[in-house]
Amino acid sequence: MNWRHTRLGRSLTSPDASPHSTATTAESRIVGFTDLERVLVPRSAVEVANSHMRSVGRDGYEGFALWIGRRDGTVFNVTETLIPAQSGVRSEDGVCVTVNGDELFRINVYLYDHGLTLIAQLHSHPTDAYHSDTDDSFPIATTVGAFSLVIPDFARHPFSFERCATYRLDHRSSWVSIPPDAVGRIFKFTDGLEG
Ligand SMILES: [Zn+2]
Repeated sequence: MNWRHTRLGRSLTSPDASPHSTATTAESRIVGFTDLERVLVPRSAVEVANSHMRSVGRDGYEGFALWIGRRDGTVFNVTETLIPAQSGVRSEDGVCVTVNGDELFRINVYLYDHGLTLIAQLHSHPTDAYHSDTDDSFPIATTVGAFSLVIPDFARHPFSFERCATYRLDHRSSWVSIPPDAVGRIFKFTDGLEG
C-alpha cells in the first residue's frame, strides 16, 4: 500500500523568533535543542495525544499532535499537548493529515505569547511507523534537536517508545532515527507537571 503523507502550510519559525519575523539569531540556529539531556512528559500529555490519534484513527484518519513546554537548562518540561486544527484525508493513494498555514501561524503566536516552545511533533500511521518522504519534507517542528514521533496502527495500543519510531532533527536539517533505548534515556514520563 502506497500511503501518502502530506502536510501543507508553512512550518513554525524558531521558538526564539517573533511570529511576525522569520529572523533568528545565529546562536539559536546552532544550538536549538541539541544540548537537551532530558525531556519530561506528563502521562496526561501522552494520553491526550494518543487518545486524539486513536479517535481519528477509528475513522481511518491519521492524527497529529504537538508536545510543547519550557526548557530549564538541559531539561525540557512538556506542559501540554496541543492538538492543531487538522484535516485528515483518505484517498485511493492512501491517507494524510494536513495543518494549514493559518493554524500554524495561530500556534506560533500562542507559543510566543506564552513563552512556550515546540519540542516534539507526533503523528499516527495506519500500520508501520516510519518517517515518510513527506514527513521529512513538511515537518511542523523545525528547531534543530527537536523530535518527531510516528505512532503505528492508528495509536490503537498504549503509547510506548518501543513501538513508535522516533527521529531527531540534526544540523543538516535531516531527521535521524533514534533507537528506542536511546529515546528512553532522553524521555521520561512523569505523573504530573514538573517545575
Ligand atoms: Zn507520516
